[in-house]
Amino acid sequence: SPIPDFLDETLDRFRPDRSGENADYIPALAAADPEKLAICISTLDGIEYTSGDAEHAFSIQSMSKPFIYGLALEQEGLAGVFEKVGVEPSGEKFNELSLDKKSGRPLNPMINAGAMTIHSILGDPGASLAERTEIVRSGLSRFAGRELTIDEDVADGEWREAYRNVAIANMLRSYDIFYDDPDEVVRGYIEQCSILVTVKDLAIMAATLAGGGLNPLTGEQVLSPRVNRHVLAVMMTCGMYDAAGDWMTEIGMPAKSGVSGGVFGVMPGQVGIATLSPRLDRHGTSVRGAKIFRDLSDRLSLHIMDAP
Ligand code: GLU
Repeated sequence: SPIPDFLDETLDRFRPDRSGENADYIPALAAADPEKLAICISTLDGIEYTSGDAEHAFSIQSMSKPFIYGLALEQEGLAGVFEKVGVEPSGEKFNELSLDKKSGRPLNPMINAGAMTIHSILGDPGASLAERTEIVRSGLSRFAGRELTIDEDVADGEWREAYRNVAIANMLRSYDIFYDDPDEVVRGYIEQCSILVTVKDLAIMAATLAGGGLNPLTGEQVLSPRVNRHVLAVMMTCGMYDAAGDWMTEIGMPAKSGVSGGVFGVMPGQVGIATLSPRLDRHGTSVRGAKIFRDLSDRLSLHIMDAP
């Protein structure tokens, strides 16, 4: 098949680019090898094409947010979740201390205020940290089609410097957005961010979203088509934070980045794509990852607004 050669050639062209910096606020990410470079594309029947460091595991970080949002929607229903977290792009940074002025809710589930609120919805009201952590780990595993694990080293490092997320959680608690202990919600959210994945896992997770919620490896319907559509719509408008408009016009597919340097994108009905490269731009998105997505979008006509 010519596809692996095409992917090798694509990575080779972007490999020399050393612009951007690793995330510095989580010690394990600051220490990550910045040269790591990987891509995986998964079809809707679970065939994976890879190039580069495709077996290298890294923490999922913010790329967990759309999947956990989907699980919360399945648990509580669209209306129940909408009461707590909106669906409007914020145009702000991922860790902005902000609430919607009119409704008092976090604007969307992709920024940290919304993502932590979504985390707090999981399980029975008042579920323990351990219970929620297991709901997250097992839930993300269903998207990946294998049992994922948590890197406690990544989590401990982030927890020690989590002043900003603790401030956001205290803001949420003070406005009665949730009633849980703010520290427990932050710790649970950090455990969520510290789940280890490879680009192969992420591509399968993305292919699950591309296939209407059906995991191509296990055949499990992880999300209902209605919830799946909703998750993709929110990812498309809010997933890239204050770069969402730029991403959508230039690259044109719902995508989510994480500060570990991973990016995944979803072409509905077609493929899931994931890349890894740790150096980030000022939006917290992988520099080479974004360039590779842009290149693939151009060369394979993956912009969803392109006429067929
Ligand atoms: N754990 C990170 C945070 O909340 C995730 C941010 C990201 O990946 O964009 O600060």
